[in-house]
Amino acid sequence: MKMSKLFCQTLREFPQDAEVISHKLLVRAGYIRKLANGIYNYLPLMQRVLTKVENIIREEMNAAGAQELLMPFVQPEELWKESGRWDVYGKELMRMKDRHDRGMCLGPTHEEVITFIAREGIRSYKQLPVNLYQIQSKFRDEIRPRFGLLRGREFIMKDAYSFDVDQAGLDKEYKNMADTYNRIFTRCGLETKMVQSDSGAIGGSVSHEFMVLVNENDENNAGENDVFYCTKCDYSANSNHAVSKLNPAETDGKFEKAEIVDTPNTKTIEELAEFLKVPSTVICKALVYVIDGKYVVALIRGDRTVEETKLMNAFEGNEIRIARNDEIDEIMQNSGFSAVAGFIGPKGLKGVSIIADETVRELKNFVVGINQTDKHLVGANWGKDVELPEKICDIRLVETKDRCPVCGEELKVTKGIEVGNIFQLGTKYSKAMNATFTDKDGTEKSFIMGCYGIGVSRTAAAAVERYHDDFGIIWPLSIAPYTVVIVPVSDVDEAQMGCANKMYEELNKAGVEVLLDDRSERAGVKLKDADLIGIPFRVTVGKTLNEGKVEFKDRKTNEITLLTPDEAVNKIIEISKTIK
Ligand code: ATP
Ligand code: MG
Repeated sequence: MKMSKLFCQTLREFPQDAEVISHKLLVRAGYIRKLANGIYNYLPLMQRVLTKVENIIREEMNAAGAQELLMPFVQPEELWKESGRWDVYGKELMRMKDRHDRGMCLGPTHEEVITFIAREGIRSYKQLPVNLYQIQSKFRDEIRPRFGLLRGREFIMKDAYSFDVDQAGLDKEYKNMADTYNRIFTRCGLETKMVQSDSGAIGGSVSHEFMVLVNENDENNAGENDVFYCTKCDYSANSNHAVSKLNPAETDGKFEKAEIVDTPNTKTIEELAEFLKVPSTVICKALVYVIDGKYVVALIRGDRTVEETKLMNAFEGNEIRIARNDEIDEIMQNSGFSAVAGFIGPKGLKGVSIIADETVRELKNFVVGINQTDKHLVGANWGKDVELPEKICDIRLVETKDRCPVCGEELKVTKGIEVGNIFQLGTKYSKAMNATFTDKDGTEKSFIMGCYGIGVSRTAAAAVERYHDDFGIIWPLSIAPYTVVIVPVSDVDEAQMGCANKMYEELNKAGVEVLLDDRSERAGVKLKDADLIGIPFRVTVGKTLNEGKVEFKDRKTNEITLLTPDEAVNKIIEISKTIK
């Protein structure tokens, strides 16, 4: 491709609305252009990158025994009602009516449609196992689309769905997909970590995410997930799912008797601990949440934080938020109290569910809110002064220095971008949608399902997050839009243009993906653009041509070697043979 013809406009400045580097660079280097919030045009260079990622995915999925199909992007409401998700998916599901007033939605994921396909098409165990996948645009009306392609509203996903006769079959396919994902991301030039995760709106019990780890010291890093991991064993989990063993802590408040004391202006745990001269580990904190419209009070040890996804899952909820002050007032009124946040406690509350984190179980002679503003109960004990709630779960956020739940080593945390996710769905969808097959013994059974997603557009953006420098993108060779760019320093120098054109033709003939910068631009502009766009290799044809040499530059190492044009051509041909 000649750059004079390439549809690509690089910009001098970064876009105003971009926070993270992949968003900035992809816009500035002419890869994407925003159409609306979270909705992007993929321009020709981007389309080449996406096609490469897709083809790597295709080859590996096919090799793993999966079959590609394509399902409709627009889906009927009835299917979502059958699965039960129409009412629980929330506002991310883009709903609309057709001209006959029938409810439709834009596919955010395709469990319903694939279950419909299996229900219609698979009658017997003889047709199983099967794994079907597609590569397609998805739409999720994300509450906060941001970071360019990393969190769009419309984005490209590979989604696969497996059907098995039993759990052993699913276990085997799950492992097969995990291995396949490792191969896919490695081929895309990305190192990933497979971590345990929460199953979210997709459902099911076992799930893992594939994370691209990013530099957490960079304050603009795009890692939206905290990954806790052990350096001794292979335990690692998303913070929304991670568990830990705790280090020993003081849990006895050592108050001699239970009494209500004045604690003026102590709305925070820090203020309260300071006022009473006790460690925060002897305070029982009470937080009020709203889960799917219902009030929940969560108790946790004063030094710890509630992990909202874990709390929501404890109630099998779909939406969670912290209660507003007027809602707390309402709870207080219904219970015959009046107290503001900071002084709430479990005793005597009406119309709320109370849940305790495991950390409060061991508290003795502790401090707890008593639903009176500016007062606390000190020296409290469970069973005597306050009832320990029946519902006790792990709802706490893991912290660094907590211990690995498997081996006891100190846990560490890092930031990650989720590029893939695999789930064991079991019979969640097949049961709800009555999708069955006849097993060997003649009985009707529900399909055992798994589902496996990769964010195609997010993976490409994650590669930019991982590989760039001050001058631009540094694409991994396997997903670069072109392998090499030839830059003649002067487009009016006949010798230079002749040499550049000849190399261009030879490389094209050899099937190498080559760009020729034949624009009548200043050399500086052309060289800057080559770096910005991030083509892995650059051949510059300039002054050294007098000695019969061209400059060969590796974008990754910035190393420059002088080669004859023939040597340069051969080197590129050899390199391009290594692309897998
Ligand atoms: P997230 O937690 O980041 O919102 P998710 O867990 O909801 O993602 P999945 O349902 O697991 O996403 O979708 C499979 C894959 O699709 C994800 O691993 C991710 O790579 C990609 N993906 C999900 N949402 C988006 C988005 N808004 N923009 C780009 N890619 C996305
Ligand atoms: Mg996910």
